[in-house]
Amino acid sequence: MKTPVAKKRFGQNFLCEPTAIDRILYAAEIREGDRVLEIGPGPGALTSALRIARVELTAIELDREMAALLRERWPDLRLFQEDAMKADYEAVCPGEGWKVVANLPYNVAVHILLRLLDEPARFRSLVLMFQKEVADRILAEPGEEECGSLSIQVQARAKVRRVFTLGPGAFKPAPKVDSTVLRFDLLPNPDFGGVSGKAFDHIVRLSFAQRRKTLLNTLSSGMERELAAKVCADAGIDPQIRGEKLGQPEFRRLAAAWVAATEQSPH
Ligand code: SAH
Repeated sequence: MKTPVAKKRFGQNFLCEPTAIDRILYAAEIREGDRVLEIGPGPGALTSALRIARVELTAIELDREMAALLRERWPDLRLFQEDAMKADYEAVCPGEGWKVVANLPYNVAVHILLRLLDEPARFRSLVLMFQKEVADRILAEPGEEECGSLSIQVQARAKVRRVFTLGPGAFKPAPKVDSTVLRFDLLPNPDFGGVSGKAFDHIVRLSFAQRRKTLLNTLSSGMERELAAKVCADAGIDPQIRGEKLGQPEFRRLAAAWVAATEQSPH
């Protein structure tokens, strides 16, 4: 198969480092017969390795030209030419226990990650490539400079670990930045403090909306100041603390207090 010209608008940087492909498969603990979803196979470097590993493979590729080439190369590949941000995953990967492997386009990686994390029964584990700076934000712990709403939202839903980091030379064309592969093990029953993930995310985002401000001030950017004060008090959290200092238990309490105070439906 001839390798097509990489298209910028689809975030195409093709992996061309065989050891990286092996390490991704190893990190994903791929076993014969596993149900595996690959997102953005491109010219098929990972796809080829996954087929050799004899998994039950499904792929989603947005680029029509790339999808046509993949079909030509592997007529029996279960392939959806679709946008992974909008895909109906019940149709693409029905049932439970899927492993996801992807070298994602950087411009959509976070969006796709957040969608996958919301289906912990369907998706068991994810091994995904990110721009290193984004991976660092995902992994950051409370109190660290890079810690933000993304870190908190992701860590509430999955155990995350860094697998390895690659320089630009592992890809064609070479991106401008380093890339990091992360593994996510989805928590079967994420604890959002008894409220929905959506309510939890709302409070987390508000808490980080105005960095370096007090929790009271940043929460007040999205609700009445009086309500923000009540939510902090009910959650037992000092309203003068900075949002960046809070960890999962505090966000769970804030989310629960906010839902109780506003009588939002908890789910
Ligand atoms: N996995 C391949 C290609 C990486 S480039 C490799 O490692 O070599 C990213 C791939 O994702 C491209 O093939 C691109 O066309 C595809 N892509 C981009 N946006 C997408 C989306 N929203 N949904 C599905 N695939 C997408």
